[in-house]
Amino acid sequence: MKYIGAHVSAAGGVENAPENAAKIGAKAFALFTKNQRQWTAKPLTDESADLFKENCDKYGYEASQILAHDSYLINLGHPDKLSLEKSRNAFLDEMQRCEKLGLDRLNFHPGSHLKKVSIDECLHTISDSINWALDKTNGVSAVIENTAGQGSNLGFSFEQIAAIIDRVEDQSRVAVCIDTCHVFTAGYDISTKIGFENVFADFERIIGFEYLKGMHLNDSKKELATKVDRHELIGQGFIGLSAFEYLMNDARFNNIPMVLETPNADHWADEIKLLYSLEKK
Ligand SMILES: [Zn+2]
Ligand SMILES: [Zn+2]
Repeated sequence: MKYIGAHVSAAGGVENAPENAAKIGAKAFALFTKNQRQWTAKPLTDESADLFKENCDKYGYEASQILAHDSYLINLGHPDKLSLEKSRNAFLDEMQRCEKLGLDRLNFHPGSHLKKVSIDECLHTISDSINWALDKTNGVSAVIENTAGQGSNLGFSFEQIAAIIDRVEDQSRVAVCIDTCHVFTAGYDISTKIGFENVFADFERIIGFEYLKGMHLNDSKKELATKVDRHELIGQGFIGLSAFEYLMNDARFNNIPMVLETPNADHWADEIKLLYSLEKK
């Protein structure tokens, strides 16, 4: 079963996200559990968390269909000690919010070396940050999102992601989310059948599908290997519709949240329908 949805709004409280997802016919959703552009937020109230769970039940969403996304400010590979500490504390808060909401996975961008330390050193710091946060929480997996490799962002190659996972102590609670736009502009050509097969054979060999706990479904405004992160509507960018057809008919992507982060929320209901229409019965 494919769980297709979108990164929906949680404006007015996380408890509103399940209804926003249901309204567009989503079978999965992503959300921010706090304002993604601010460091701090008011704690989640018991009332808000209970309502969230009630609404998930009401609209039929289980934890395995929901992918929380952390704040864009967090850098778990930060080369500066104080900034790293700030990021780790913010990440822990996000993990604890997920715990409180009964969620089992938190998606994050691995981190950036800011040209101050080597790639290896930064990857090592990211693993240490994950270990630190997993130690203080229960039941929530840290889900590493692959990046386009813009600026000094790491996690743009499968090898880098594997290197992070390799140093995580509890590997049952570390996972991966592949963003189709990021993977494409990082240089992995999933636009053709042979390309798609090769890329995911590499993924299986280097990381392993057992770690795949989510997907971000986006087309790309930029060409292959441009290292630029600009999402486009499904089928209207340089990836093209075929890649999504391969994905929709590949059982390796079953039973994980696969969410749109395409530029226009008004299109999400249609894009979800479009994606399901690609499934060969
Ligand atoms: Zn992301
Ligand atoms: Zn993404």
